[in-house]
Amino acid sequence: MPSGAQSLTAYATVLEDPAGALDLDGARARAADFRSTGQADEAFSFGYTRSTYWLRVELYNPGEQALARMFEISNARLSDIRFYYRDHEHHTGSARPYASRPYPNRYYVFPIELAPHERQVIYVRVWSEGAKLIPMTLWDPLAYAAYERHDYLVQGAYFGAALAMLAFNLVLFLNLRDRLYLQYVGFVFFAVMALSGQNGLAHEWLWPGVGGSWPNVAASLGFSLSAGMLTAFMRRMIGTRKLVPRLDWVLRMLLVFFFVSPLATLFFYVQTAGKITTIWAIASPLIMLIGVVCVFKRHRSAYYFTAAFVLLFIGNSSSSLAALGWLPHNPITNYGSQIGSAIEMMVLAFALADRLHVMRREKATAQRDALAAQASLIVGLQQSERLLEGRVEQRTRELQAANEHLAALSMTDGLTGIANRRRFDEVLAAEWARAARQQRPLAIGLLDIDYFKQYNDHYGHQQGDDCLRRVAAAFKTQLQRGGDLVARYGGEEFAFIAPAVDAEQALAIADSVCRALEALELPHAVAPNGTLTVSIGVAAWMPKAGESPADLLQAADQALYRAKQLGRNRVEVH
Ligand code: GH3
Ligand code: MG
Ligand code: MG
Repeated sequence: MPSGAQSLTAYATVLEDPAGALDLDGARARAADFRSTGQADEAFSFGYTRSTYWLRVELYNPGEQALARMFEISNARLSDIRFYYRDHEHHTGSARPYASRPYPNRYYVFPIELAPHERQVIYVRVWSEGAKLIPMTLWDPLAYAAYERHDYLVQGAYFGAALAMLAFNLVLFLNLRDRLYLQYVGFVFFAVMALSGQNGLAHEWLWPGVGGSWPNVAASLGFSLSAGMLTAFMRRMIGTRKLVPRLDWVLRMLLVFFFVSPLATLFFYVQTAGKITTIWAIASPLIMLIGVVCVFKRHRSAYYFTAAFVLLFIGNSSSSLAALGWLPHNPITNYGSQIGSAIEMMVLAFALADRLHVMRREKATAQRDALAAQASLIVGLQQSERLLEGRVEQRTRELQAANEHLAALSMTDGLTGIANRRRFDEVLAAEWARAARQQRPLAIGLLDIDYFKQYNDHYGHQQGDDCLRRVAAAFKTQLQRGGDLVARYGGEEFAFIAPAVDAEQALAIADSVCRALEALELPHAVAPNGTLTVSIGVAAWMPKAGESPADLLQAADQALYRAKQLGRNRVEVH
């Protein structure tokens, strides 16, 4: 007890009136039935009963001076209080309008006077819907004034801070549209409603004209809904549905309880208040326990939440225990609820800020990762593009080579490896046109192996083929000039094209071919002179209008025919 204050619990005697039927005279008549409770605590605690209680206090002024005192009943939630002093009745309580109080205070305060040597008996009749916790204190007026100033200052500081948090987080919610902020705002709002209902400030400032059950119901509603909001806040902030799915079910059930039980208190306050309080006593440690489990799961938000909740729990418990007189009164236990609640609000606001920070960091990381992924995708695309280009290039080269090979094949004679008849015809046409354009002569020669039928007959077809290859090779060596062409014309007949060569030069070339073959001395047992020889017919002139390569060919063929006629192994010019 602060100095200048005196708890009256030890001095008061009590009479229980279960039916609530006694009046003052009735109570006085039963003065002998008043009993001391033996409670040395700072408050009578009769629990949730329907009984009415009469309290009797005898006061005596032994001094020579008149004494003024403040008789304080410091439980704002007592519904109906009749204070009898010098045969005067003050009828007040939470169910009565605020104006019914003889002294304006959040609690019930009755100024009294004691003349010198006066002995007075004060009767107090108390009935309440809620718990019958009745703390009675006798104050020296000056001490009371000091206490009251201090008390209102602390309350003002608490509610000012709470409203600032509420407004700030409401603005955050409107900006960020994260429901978590709204849950926080709801929690603070209902916590303010609960505490201001609990300590009588709501009745004094918010609804002074209202009586009946509302002031008490408002406090209960505040407690339930703030707990519900806090549970919803917890579930969302920690993400209990994913982190601890089974415990989350417990939280859901609590959530239903917190939001549904107010309905019960609205309609059956007296019947349910006690039972609901019992569930409350279980719910707080349960929430704390779930918080601790989440802490062990190393959830960052759970650290903040659980720390905040433990502080709130300690604060509430200490003020409840102090109200019961089980803890000493000091500024911390007196305002335990306010201090715990204020710290909890701060810590949770800090948790919200931290969460924002974490989310922003995660977002930045995700953006960086996305950028990196994009960059590596681009690099990968570029690489595969280069790879593809390389492959296409290689395929193209291979295709070109294959085409060249095919083209060469289509132009080449399979047996001898020199140009074939098709190639010969093409080159002849081209050279003929060029010779015509450039007005130059064009020479061709047709070569036919002598007595080759007999060679085949004698040596066999296989050796005949071999012989054709040798002839082709020897033939080729005699026409090495650029633009010259040797070709297998068909069977054992060969041909050459020599651009810009006149008949005389062509004759010389053909002659050298004949000599070269003769010099090879390929044996031909069936031929008249024993070696393989050839006959060549040559034709050369400047293309004239109206002529075609066929004319040149025909001329060369005629020359060849003549060479054969004239005895073979010789050259004839057309
Ligand atoms: P000539 O001196 O009048 O030319 O007498 P020849 O026997 O050479 O008569 P001809 O020019 O008509 O010869 C044609 C022979 O050439 C027929 C065939 O036995 C031979 N021959 C034609 N093509 C080939 C070939 O691809 N391989 C071989 N081994 N022999 C061939
Ligand atoms: Mg022939
Ligand atoms: Mg022949």
